[in-house]
Amino acid sequence: MIRIPKIVYEKFLRFALENANPLDSRDWKECIGLVLGRIKEEEILVTDIVPIGSGTAVFVDIADYEKVFSLISPSRIDHGEVIVGWAHTHPGLGLFLSGTDIHTQQMYQQMHPKAFALVLDPTKISPEFSGFNIFRLDEFGSNPTTVDYSFDEHCDFFTIRETLISELYLVPPVLKPPAIISESEVLWNGIRIILSGDKESLINQFFQVKLVVDLPFRQFIRIEYQTETDNVTDNPFTRKLLYQKILYHETITSGTLGIFSFRPTNIGTVHFRINNIFLTDYRQSLQKMPDLQFKTEVQGK
Ligand SMILES: [Zn+2]
Repeated sequence: MIRIPKIVYEKFLRFALENANPLDSRDWKECIGLVLGRIKEEEILVTDIVPIGSGTAVFVDIADYEKVFSLISPSRIDHGEVIVGWAHTHPGLGLFLSGTDIHTQQMYQQMHPKAFALVLDPTKISPEFSGFNIFRLDEFGSNPTTVDYSFDEHCDFFTIRETLISELYLVPPVLKPPAIISESEVLWNGIRIILSGDKESLINQFFQVKLVVDLPFRQFIRIEYQTETDNVTDNPFTRKLLYQKILYHETITSGTLGIFSFRPTNIGTVHFRINNIFLTDYRQSLQKMPDLQFKTEVQGK
């Protein structure tokens, strides 16, 4: 088992996002870092990920490694920290080891058989998934297999990423009007839309809309819906939420069907609509629901 502190994850994710602005995918760069840690029998405790470079080619030539190792202070090595692997990013590309990555990983595993490769794709992050996998090669130095890992504390990975994006890229708004936002809901036959946002929310901060189902008893349902918003920012994360169609097919009494977040672009009204909701019960009879709309005012003084 590999254990990773939340703070180390945040540090490497920050490095990844600095080189892959999620609001603009034209100039994404891959990043690479060395993973330090302590090995205790079957467990590896990661202590740090030291950034060593970024660029379109993430392969770091073996010749560079002497230089790289000199970045790690001797006192750290005295405290039992060793290089336990390497980490790099595949922004928007998915989680796998490329041919070049396998070659690099062979070298690490020759140095230490437990050395691993961590691959992070920040676009894969969800509230429950960190966006990375850890790999090792089999005894023949070829097939990569994933290795289990855990965190030292509970992490809401999506919130961590969104907070870092806000810190790194969102310019504070020129206008700072207090927005009139309160937790509100719209109800229709067990389907609720809940809007949550800070009462002090400003332009360009996130709002969250949650679509929740609450049924009087456990039953089989199938839900199909589409959403639309306007007056929200044009960025890769919100854009794909402008129009979404999800099939939800389960026996439940309650649950969250979807979470949408967006930022208002200006003072005005944000519209969030859920259209064409269908719900079927266990008899497969189809009920069409009316459009559910949510409208919120973002106002100046
Ligand atoms: Zn790679």
